[in-house]
Amino acid sequence: MSAADLATRIARHIQRHGPLSVAAFMAMALHDPRGGYYARHEPVGRTGDFITAPEISQIFGELIGLWCADLWQRIGRPDPVILAELGPGRGALMQDFLRAAATVPAFRQALRLYLIEASPVLRAEQQRRLAAAEPQFVEGIEGLPPGPPLMLVANEFLDALPIRQLVRGRLEWTERLVAVDDASRLVFVSGPESPALSLLVPLTLRGLPPGAVVEICPAAAALAAALGERFARAPGAALVIDYGYFPSAAGPTLAALRHHRPVGVLDEPGNADLSAHVDFAAFADSARSAGAAVWGPVPQGRFLTALGAEARLGRLAERASPAQRALLESGLRRLIDPAEMGNLFKAMALSSPGLPALAGFAEASTAGGE
Ligand code: SAH
Repeated sequence: MSAADLATRIARHIQRHGPLSVAAFMAMALHDPRGGYYARHEPVGRTGDFITAPEISQIFGELIGLWCADLWQRIGRPDPVILAELGPGRGALMQDFLRAAATVPAFRQALRLYLIEASPVLRAEQQRRLAAAEPQFVEGIEGLPPGPPLMLVANEFLDALPIRQLVRGRLEWTERLVAVDDASRLVFVSGPESPALSLLVPLTLRGLPPGAVVEICPAAAALAAALGERFARAPGAALVIDYGYFPSAAGPTLAALRHHRPVGVLDEPGNADLSAHVDFAAFADSARSAGAAVWGPVPQGRFLTALGAEARLGRLAERASPAQRALLESGLRRLIDPAEMGNLFKAMALSSPGLPALAGFAEASTAGGE
């Protein structure tokens, strides 16, 4: 099924049932089982539509593996441990993670790998690349065994979750909706003003002037709450890394990418990746309300540097050819440099309450408490 077909199908759906929320449009464009973006594409990598940290440098996944090994020591070296990844892409992060984890053999042996992946194309690739670790695929975090301690990682996962866009009207807030025009093209329209919509806007942003746009992500809030509830009753931690903002801020940030180039959000449903900046403050609030401790966010550059990225680069460079060394160096620079991914991307951790400072977050005050 082609993307044109998906656009037509979405338009027909709207003609029959009325306008869609931006979140409902995003869910169809990304996950429609026949024409959805993730159902058909290899999104990540040079030949895909965007590139991610683990595809740029092996150091990224290795340091996350060592971060988890350090955490494992602090929580009393439990065995077994559930290691879960949300949206593992092509499996690069996890490959590097497991290689680094093997330097602490008892940790590696304790790990039971669970992957949560919506795309059948990527599931097949993950199965192939991670076969030696015998991954189990589950639908969502509800599918993880409830008993053992949990370590969860998610890189560039939250930005793919559907967001709603709320627009400040004259007195109250409205919702931006996706409708069709006379030529059956998808267009944005504004729904009615409603006090109920105003309640969905973070308190700090409710006073913005008419026309202001605020994005909320119910799926991320629900995930944070479910993780928070789990960490309140059983040991564990989640490390989420993504691009986004802290504190909450006005948008819109929703953007579409095709072959590394921006395209119109409504122009190519099914053919373009859709993602939005992550509201780390909202994510932290939901997790904290459910009982988790929250760490960070800290800028990715500072986080990786605190975990020893430079030392790791040095060791890899010793054994590398000059060409390889140049690639290793430029890759790490890209992840750390504030002008590249070092500042926009941020790391945040959720954990069971009462743990001593987690590596990489030692100097960062937790997002909690204010
Ligand atoms: N973490 C990888 C890939 C990031 S792209 C990396 O850093 O390279 C986003 C990933 O999340 C993809 O694997 C995509 O298929 C997956 N994904 C997006 N929405 C999802 C959902 N609702 N449930 C499960 N997986 C999802």
